[in-house]
Amino acid sequence: MKDQDTLQRFLFDGTDTRGEITTLASSYQNMVASKNYPTSVALLFGEFLAAASLLSSSLKYPGIVSIQASGSGPISMIMAECSHGQQLRGIVRGNFDDLTAKQRSERQGVSVLLGKSTLAITVEPENSERYQGIVPIESDILSDCLEYYFEQSVQLPTRIRLASNEICAAGILIQQMPSSQTIIEQQHEWQHLCTLFGTIKSGEQLELSHNDQLYRLFNEEKVRLFKAQILSFFCSCSRHRTEQALVSLGIEELLQTCEDQGQVLITCQFCAEQYEFTKDQVTTMFNPSSGLLH
Ligand SMILES: [Zn+2]
Repeated sequence: MKDQDTLQRFLFDGTDTRGEITTLASSYQNMVASKNYPTSVALLFGEFLAAASLLSSSLKYPGIVSIQASGSGPISMIMAECSHGQQLRGIVRGNFDDLTAKQRSERQGVSVLLGKSTLAITVEPENSERYQGIVPIESDILSDCLEYYFEQSVQLPTRIRLASNEICAAGILIQQMPSSQTIIEQQHEWQHLCTLFGTIKSGEQLELSHNDQLYRLFNEEKVRLFKAQILSFFCSCSRHRTEQALVSLGIEELLQTCEDQGQVLITCQFCAEQYEFTKDQVTTMFNPSSGLLH
């Protein structure tokens, strides 16, 4: 497989349908390494990451797309986000002790892992209003929930397939764009592409190159595959952002932590980077001008 950690756009010449295809390997592996997620949880997380990568293609300007679900099941929260520059990060929280050995080691439906839950898709452009769409999770398959989101919120017919194993995660999307054609022609053409799209198998998504997947599905169509964009794991945490989050806790609580533990130590939940703050640094945080004297 040649297309590891890339996202590629494709177009069907002469139609109003666009597509995106993605494969994540080391970016996905880096995010599950050292996390000790059960296999079933890692597989669903891989699908969330692949979906975030596909959805980032809708960002026309710098910004971030995130896909998050909160539920009542073993996974209390799962999220993946991808920036306009294809930088990915994500996390899963929950208590997996009650999963049976089979539920831990084999792929599970979304409802087994998340229970009753909702899916929130947030688009945060850097320089304009953020937009959030929320849909109930009513299918055991994540891609069905995302298709429903597109139908409800963006109102663009969209088909998505996601796949994951322990080594990589993959996704493919086709979307019908607003068109000048008559509705009947448009629907006929869209239905034809959807029928072909529906024949992809997850094994093919995980094993074939992007070009080979598109050939396998659409070898009688005129498909144009664009240049690959590189995906990477990147955490946007920083000392400055950590300080901003700490300030909301209030100085008294932070000074008490310094008293009890010698310092305030914050570990980033995404990348495990540690940020330490001494008592003096906490005081400066709440009185920034005093820091300028040094
Ligand atoms: Zn971080």
